Amino acid sequence: MSFERIREKLSILADAAKYDVSCASSGGKRANSQKGLGNNTGFGICHSYTEDGRCVSLLKILLTNHCIYDCAYCITRKSNDTKRAAFKIQEVVDLTINFYRRNYIEGLFLSSGIFKTPDYTMERLVSVAKKLRLEENFNGYIHLKSIPGASDELMREAGLYADRLSVNIEIPTKSGLRLLAPDKKHDDFIKPMKKVKNEIIQYNAEKKIIKSTPRYAPAGQSTQMIIGATGESDRDIMYSATYYYKEFNMRRVYYSGYIPVLEDIRLPSLETEVPILRENRLYQTDWLLRFYGFSIHEILNDSHQNLDLDIDPKLSWALRNQDLFPIDINTASKQMLARVPGIGMQSVSKILQARKFRKLNWTHLKAIGIALNRAQYFITCDSKDFIKKELQPHILKNKILKESQSKYNKYFNQQLSLFS
Ligand code: SF4
Repeated sequence: MSFERIREKLSILADAAKYDVSCASSGGKRANSQKGLGNNTGFGICHSYTEDGRCVSLLKILLTNHCIYDCAYCITRKSNDTKRAAFKIQEVVDLTINFYRRNYIEGLFLSSGIFKTPDYTMERLVSVAKKLRLEENFNGYIHLKSIPGASDELMREAGLYADRLSVNIEIPTKSGLRLLAPDKKHDDFIKPMKKVKNEIIQYNAEKKIIKSTPRYAPAGQSTQMIIGATGESDRDIMYSATYYYKEFNMRRVYYSGYIPVLEDIRLPSLETEVPILRENRLYQTDWLLRFYGFSIHEILNDSHQNLDLDIDPKLSWALRNQDLFPIDINTASKQMLARVPGIGMQSVSKILQARKFRKLNWTHLKAIGIALNRAQYFITCDSKDFIKKELQPHILKNKILKESQSKYNKYFNQQLSLFS
């Protein structure tokens, strides 16, 4: 195979892989101008996080962009007139090893269109990982996409060679899936997820007894949802995400704003792009649910089905629940401290620790690193200068937004002055 053909395959199959956002660097849209430096729309190498939190660069490609399915939102769908290519197993192995030796990458992120059958495709993905591990002694990070509908046996094998496995559920609700991906069944996603979850539990249990038991998918499993291709509300999306976290011990659920690339009457028009802020707000909510003790109905409910784009979900919740504030920073429970806008979990721990020794005032809180421009409206502390600010939610919201903007402008100007 000529170098040019491999290069061509790489360009087709790395470009097709960029719509998967299970890697942190995907999704940017800042193209390079002729004389600019860098290019955020490039493809081929992405970043991900290992089990111990290290950020690693990965070669991100599809094994093939041939696909027997016709999912409306996917550029790889069989009815789309696009250039197709397929790597051989050995080609992916060689590329990974060569790029690794040149220090371009620290691992591989391998996905695929469905070629012939789910099992045929999954078997080839597993073969790549197996060859890398057993023949090349490759100890870098491997993230394999699991093919919906793949057999239990192949899923079991995949986890023995990959660090992370993921099955993308793509559309958050069953009805949306039926509309946009009629070839796929909800069960095709659930079965491999269940298998991976059970294998992880079983291998971890065995390892406690028999030290030589191999590790199974040590970085766990993740999934991705496309946001905005169907009409789901943010509430529907978060309920769906919570289900996957709870039922399948997901490490991460990724929210990927729908990128209109194809015309289809089932899809929003080509001009409709999902604002990046919607993705950000979903990630913030995901974080509040997993680490801050919020439940979904507090943030999203019948009267508030979608997240505000102009303010973060914690501030939005606090403004709708002003009767619970202000709280006394020196006596409030951990749960209430975590609910104050401008106070993160690290600051909560510092406050709990510091208030064992003294009563905290504004100076202490500032030193702890609390964002007082937001928090000051929701707390009292050991300072005489506190004036209860009884502001209407919309007035308070505008005030906070204005102050945040001027703080940002000040910071930006300071940074600029460093270069003048
Ligand atoms: S099965 Fe996957 S690759 Fe194939 S059309 Fe659907 S989303 Fe695209």
